[in-house]
Amino acid sequence: MANPKREHLSLICDISELSNLMSESKDIDNFLQQVVHLVASHLNADVGSIYLLEANSGTLVLKATVGLHPDSVGRVRMEIGEGLVGWTLEQMAPVCEGEASRNPRFKYFETSKEERFQSFLSVPISYGSEKTGVLVVQHTDANYFNPADVMALKAIAAQLAGTIANARMMMTLNHAATPADAPTMPEGMQMFKGEAAVNGFALAPAMTMRSSDPLMEDVADDQFNAGLEDFRAAMAKTIGQLRQLQEQMVQRLPESAVLIFEAHHMILKDTRFVQQITQLITDGLPAPAAIRHAARHVIDLFEKSPNAYIREKSKDVEDLVRRLLFNLRKNPTTGQSPMDGRIVIATQLYPSDILKLASESVAGLILAGGGVTSHVAIIARSLNIPTIIAMYANLLKVPDNTLVLMDADVGTLYVDPSEEVRRQYDQRNRALRKTAGRGVKMVPETRTRDNARVHLMANINLLSELDLALELKAEGIGLYRSEFPFIVRSDLPSEEEQRLVYERLFNKMAQRPVWIRTLDVGGDKILPYLDMLQEDNPELGLRSIRFSLRHREIFDQQIRAILRAGVHAPSLGIMFPMVSSIDEFRTARQTVRQAIAALTNEKLPHHREPKLGAMIELPAMVEIIDELAREVDFLSIGTNDFTQYMLAADRANKHVAAYYQPYHPSVLRALARIIQRAADHQVPVSVCGEVAHQKDFVPFLIGVGLRRLSVDPQFLPALQRTIRAMSVTKAEEYARQLLSAATVAQVEKVRTDWAWGSDRA
Ligand code: PEP
Ligand code: MG
Repeated sequence: MANPKREHLSLICDISELSNLMSESKDIDNFLQQVVHLVASHLNADVGSIYLLEANSGTLVLKATVGLHPDSVGRVRMEIGEGLVGWTLEQMAPVCEGEASRNPRFKYFETSKEERFQSFLSVPISYGSEKTGVLVVQHTDANYFNPADVMALKAIAAQLAGTIANARMMMTLNHAATPADAPTMPEGMQMFKGEAAVNGFALAPAMTMRSSDPLMEDVADDQFNAGLEDFRAAMAKTIGQLRQLQEQMVQRLPESAVLIFEAHHMILKDTRFVQQITQLITDGLPAPAAIRHAARHVIDLFEKSPNAYIREKSKDVEDLVRRLLFNLRKNPTTGQSPMDGRIVIATQLYPSDILKLASESVAGLILAGGGVTSHVAIIARSLNIPTIIAMYANLLKVPDNTLVLMDADVGTLYVDPSEEVRRQYDQRNRALRKTAGRGVKMVPETRTRDNARVHLMANINLLSELDLALELKAEGIGLYRSEFPFIVRSDLPSEEEQRLVYERLFNKMAQRPVWIRTLDVGGDKILPYLDMLQEDNPELGLRSIRFSLRHREIFDQQIRAILRAGVHAPSLGIMFPMVSSIDEFRTARQTVRQAIAALTNEKLPHHREPKLGAMIELPAMVEIIDELAREVDFLSIGTNDFTQYMLAADRANKHVAAYYQPYHPSVLRALARIIQRAADHQVPVSVCGEVAHQKDFVPFLIGVGLRRLSVDPQFLPALQRTIRAMSVTKAEEYARQLLSAATVAQVEKVRTDWAWGSDRA
């Protein structure tokens, strides 16, 4: 008999349900048990089971089941390729059998007592491109599961992938590591000059994130409570705080979804971890020492892992331990957590670290070493955290709680500032407050002096920037950098998590057009939790659309998430970054078409006719621009990359900054050609690189026919002023002169003569 009752995709689609499941489970085994229970009951199956691939042995092990004999948990093991379950993982494809025992691959395990179950349905669970396990449902009736069940189970497996990866990681625990040096202490006020990355001001006690003291071993033992009850209380308090932080973070940075502290919860649910600490305390070790000891086991094991995702999690263990220790203190000062209200001094930070810091309301951020990627600065800016980059190793020796003053408008910082310095800043800040708050006025439609209509759109990195974009009357989103939901997290967002993020984007923008760029990672945009290739020339390597086409499962999930989220979006554009040929564009387009077909088949509401566009970022596209224009619905010129590739000058490399010349005659002529050809073919085209808000570049773009610009929201008012002050006739003349220049020097002369930048033109 076929499955009579299904709730299919209403299933565990809700992330908060998953999160609740996690926080309500008493340990990881129990969590998995609840998952299989949920899956079996939603699919109305007699059996639900999860097999996980053990990282060390490479064996599939039954980790949780309802329906099979409970003794079989941990005992039923098979190799990849063995039995129907192993076959599922080897093929990375579902197996649906009406009478499982008739399949020659079927393998019977005495302990499981599964001979009664005739129908068998299994789907692989993967995380990124890594195989992690298999989800199985079974039923006593023959021919019970149908194609809709297969699809439903696949959807569940996709939703569970990130969580299961965490659970699996915690199940691979075991051995130890070493302590580290305490810092030395500089004395008296010191001033440092750095680079202002995010403007602002802060005066607060410092807290150093020293990589050499992740477990706070420089804090004296007598500062902590030491007993078992103290440990239990600190645990409970930490869990409560994490939950609260999570909720706050969802408000401030929705792309982090709710699972940002998931690994923390997972560690706290790991019975071995907690039991080991409890045992050590019972045996007489003070609680802080017991916590550190247990943590070292985990950290050491994680750090040795060949898997980047697991190595990355060692930082979560450190973060968690700091929180636990913080809550064990005898005389807690103010603040909920170690970083609350502090100026944090750190070396290397990933965007996901900044997210955690922001969730604790840090007052400021000083980056004193390590690579600072542009994304770190962008996120700090979006979250409004004053940030200074100051490459002085000394700063890492500043003792915790030392007062620090940051003037992140100019990049100056004072350690232990004198009374006089503080007084001066106090005066300055009061004066600034008086002049602040003069609102910026914008008109809804932008026109040049001679009445040419120009569309101003916004570049959006984080959803928190949408309010400003709307307030400043952005007419739509010309570039949504969709890598941010991936970059701000410490694990891969599932299709469902992405859908929720994109849905907010569409809801906020209501009737306005939204052009979403698909994942643009690689190059300097690294996802630390994926084993990304180490490339000698990452900018020329597997980045942007190339990465997506290589990792189809990630690409596919993203496209599905966009289409589903945009079901009611009146004007949805999907564009592919760094397209290098028409063939590549067609391949990417095919993925979208297939996703639409699959979603239709699955009866999931989705957008059926998104506009598909290409980003022009490679010089290779110039010669074939006519043919490309016939294929696409729109074009967006990423001048940041276009300039870099046209001139073979890394956009982030200071040593070749002089070669990185958007005003190079070849760049100008190529841009003119692209814009003019797009107009000939009546294909909407916009420029979304940094030049789109530069005072004397904009008249050139308008002069060659561009009528659509996309810039970071804060540049919109000035951009509108620039356009309203210019006339197309003059812009055309300016462009003509620029295009006739053959050398950079001649271009410079034209620019100087016209002096757009100084508002004299
Ligand atoms: C560009 O390359 O111009 C662009 C807008 O993309 P990104 O800066 O994100 O690479
Ligand atoms: Mg680019």
